[in-house]
Amino acid sequence: MPQVIPLLPEDFIENLDKYSLREIAFKVASALLQDVIPADDLKAIIEDAINFPAPVVKLEDGTNVLELFHGPSLAFKDFGARFMSRVMGYFLKEGEKQLDVLVATSGDTGGAVALGFLGVPNTRVTILYPKGKVSPIQELQLTTNGRNIRAVEIDGTFDDCQALVKHAFTDDELNQKFRLTSANSINIARLIPQTFYYFNAYAQLLREGKKDVVFAVPSGNFGNIGAGLLAYKMGLPVKQFLAATNVNDTVPAFLRTGIYEPKPSVQTWSNAMDVGNPSNWVRIMDMFSDDPDELKKILTGYSFTDDETVYAIHYIFKKNNYVACPHTAIAWMAAKEWKEQNPTDEVVFLSTAHPCKFPEVFTEEIAQAIEIPEQVKELEERQKHAVALGSDFESFKEYLLNELV
Ligand SMILES: *Cc1c(COP(=O)(O)O)cnc(C)c1O
Repeated sequence: MPQVIPLLPEDFIENLDKYSLREIAFKVASALLQDVIPADDLKAIIEDAINFPAPVVKLEDGTNVLELFHGPSLAFKDFGARFMSRVMGYFLKEGEKQLDVLVATSGDTGGAVALGFLGVPNTRVTILYPKGKVSPIQELQLTTNGRNIRAVEIDGTFDDCQALVKHAFTDDELNQKFRLTSANSINIARLIPQTFYYFNAYAQLLREGKKDVVFAVPSGNFGNIGAGLLAYKMGLPVKQFLAATNVNDTVPAFLRTGIYEPKPSVQTWSNAMDVGNPSNWVRIMDMFSDDPDELKKILTGYSFTDDETVYAIHYIFKKNNYVACPHTAIAWMAAKEWKEQNPTDEVVFLSTAHPCKFPEVFTEEIAQAIEIPEQVKELEERQKHAVALGSDFESFKEYLLNELV
């Protein structure tokens, strides 16, 4: 985490509409990374990592969707995973000890990280996912890569997977034997590229002369909204952030009551947000430690049930002829509630995944309307490879120590 968050020049912010996504990415990353990576190398990393668009699509007047699912794994996590893997690859010198990336996934992280690191020399990725709690397409994305990617199916929840990974990082023996690193959004290299699309979405609205921009963010580990708040701290003049969760409402409850009470996660339709103790919340609190009241002002919490999610999916389909994934639908509900109180604001809700990743949520009629991307058709012919483990740390440690791959 940067010790001081750099403020971008006002002139840049005011003229954002004149820059492309990659130009914005370069300016923002340069400010955050200072001269850690020389300009030409940073440009090359960005060109390679950010090779798909992030369009703002208007649903109706004042309500827009920011589509973040046009990357290879069909989720916004491609931004973070692709940038991070290339930055890590950049710093790895030939002949150095292999980098062992441990990652816990509730569904989408694993696929993005696997595709981001696949074939990156001198790296190995171990993905932990909760058995039976990811969708069939997600499971195929995690378990069919081979090469330097391996998948571990944990008999437990996402929180169990995350706890195993965090525990491994504090284990002396594992740290002596392996060069461990994280690929979850506790890694700052994932958050930096996620700031790019907030600036770029703002730029798209600026081109249409729109102001009073509000972002509604479907939140689980709070990395995505953490990146938005980082963009805000760097000078992006966002009017409000809406943190939208499913019934795993630890943060909305905190914003309401002032009491932070982590809870065991509950399984929902929006499984990528089934997080009871969001990793990035401490980072967000820290970013605002100089003025905690500012955080309470800029951030509003919402939480919605599965029934409301299903209702929202139908409503958006009927009214706007648009298919939203369950996570996206939760952000839309927050946007809708905000709009009712603040009708002149320009609301942007983030669409974090392509709906085809969650086929079990949709009725036949809606499922028919989803266009299936090519990469999904190809996945369905592949074979699953995963090692099954319990949720205790000793078994996981033994697996890491004894697996000779
Ligand atoms: C990971 C994920 C989220 C939650 O993002 P966080 O950064 O963990 O808050 C939301 N929607 C989808 C589809 C995801 O994959």
